[in-house]
Amino acid sequence: MTYDSTSSRIAIIGAGPAGLMAAEVLSEAGLTVDLYDAMPSPGRKFLLAGIGGMNITHSEALEPFLDRYGADGRAALEASIRRFDPVALREWIHGLGIETFVGSSGKVFPREMKAAPLLRAWLARLKAGGVSLHVRHRWLGWDEAGRLRFATPDGEVTAEPRATLLALGGGSWAKLGSDGAWQSLLAARGIGVEALKPANCGFDTGWSTFFAEKFAGAPLKTVVASVRDAEGNVLTRAGECVVTATGIEGNLVYAFARHLREGIARDGKATFTLDLLPNHSPERVRQEVSAPRGAKSLSSFLQSKLNLGGVKLGLLREILDKDAMNDPVQLAAAIKALPIAVNATRPLDEAISSAGGVRFAAMNADYMLNALPGVFCAGEMLDWEAPTGGYLLTACFATGRAAAQGMIKYINT
Ligand SMILES: Cc1cc2nc3c(=O)[nH]c(=O)nc-3n(C[C@H](O)[C@H](O)[C@H](O)COP(=O)(O)OP(=O)(O)OC[C@H]3O[C@@H](n4cnc5c(N)ncnc54)[C@H](O)[C@@H]3O)c2cc1C
Repeated sequence: MTYDSTSSRIAIIGAGPAGLMAAEVLSEAGLTVDLYDAMPSPGRKFLLAGIGGMNITHSEALEPFLDRYGADGRAALEASIRRFDPVALREWIHGLGIETFVGSSGKVFPREMKAAPLLRAWLARLKAGGVSLHVRHRWLGWDEAGRLRFATPDGEVTAEPRATLLALGGGSWAKLGSDGAWQSLLAARGIGVEALKPANCGFDTGWSTFFAEKFAGAPLKTVVASVRDAEGNVLTRAGECVVTATGIEGNLVYAFARHLREGIARDGKATFTLDLLPNHSPERVRQEVSAPRGAKSLSSFLQSKLNLGGVKLGLLREILDKDAMNDPVQLAAAIKALPIAVNATRPLDEAISSAGGVRFAAMNADYMLNALPGVFCAGEMLDWEAPTGGYLLTACFATGRAAAQGMIKYINT
């Protein structure tokens, strides 16, 4: 079967935040939108993102906000984010009847912290606007006549739209629908694709079995991490992370994931340091650990002097040898800057988001593929990355909108 191919029909493949946003812009412009998704329901990753408290954007000023995408990401995304910036995004959410609030860290959340009410209201509005949603339609590429091919429960179907938007997501959490299978489909058409890599991901460290068994799942609270970037600048950030059976994860690690991943790719390993007691000066720590210990064991001594125990002490023992543990100078230095060596990223499927994707050089300023006129791309499948904090969703919404505006321009010329 082939779907009706009137001259104004648009196909959007991928019903995540980017595809849904594009559907809204295109349907508001009077175009007939067919929205396809491989999964039985839309927005599955968006819903998952809402489970731990949906952080939809950030309230910081636009300049530092744009810098979060890195120099290359900023250059690629700035125009679309300026056209739909965090303020506009919040107003758009309010327009769906969902209130937002700014958390203590400046992150913006829907009042109910969840994605489900927002998605429900949004889908209802899209339906009322005439958007046709086709679930269980897995895009397979193009046939020889250039028609879109979809696998459906009723067999293969094709569609011949006037223009197509690919909003297929990255490659993490494949069970939610975005499996990155589009990479080979686009590469086969000669489109420049940077292989997907884990971003905002955990890392393997090669802990001893003893340490892993004892401390997997233990949070490292209120620590400060520092990492040296490729230019030699030291980047520092306070936060929390969690010891895992194979290494370390959590927001503090995600924030430096790009530098660590690139360090591993370059040198086979990368190191960051943890200040285990950021509220104590190096002098104070040195003084305390140099005090006479008497008959006390090292652990009760550190506990009584510095309130240092549990996983923090476990980490020190895991990384320092016995001599260093008993040398106040080395011990004090390690408490303030404990080197954590990581040797691999956790697999892409476990990551919060993907780096890599369709290269910006493969598209024009309207997100249309140079090699495939009439085919546009948006969202996480593009080659940018950002830390957690609402930057991911903001860029997906903004590029979805910008690509849709590009499609309108394309159709009208
Ligand atoms: C655990 C978790 C928590 C997160 N929390 C946050 C957060 O708090 N804040 C934030 O900003 N970001 C967060 N993110 C990231 C954010 O959810 C994603 O960046 C965003 O959903 C990407 O949007 P997208 O529209 O580009 O792609 P997706 O949301 O991945 O949607 C792509 C769609 O394309 C469909 N698709 C893929 N391939 C095919 C095919 N061949 N045929 C048909 N359909 C296909 C998929 O089924 C999917 O529905 C989180 C992610 C995860 C995993």
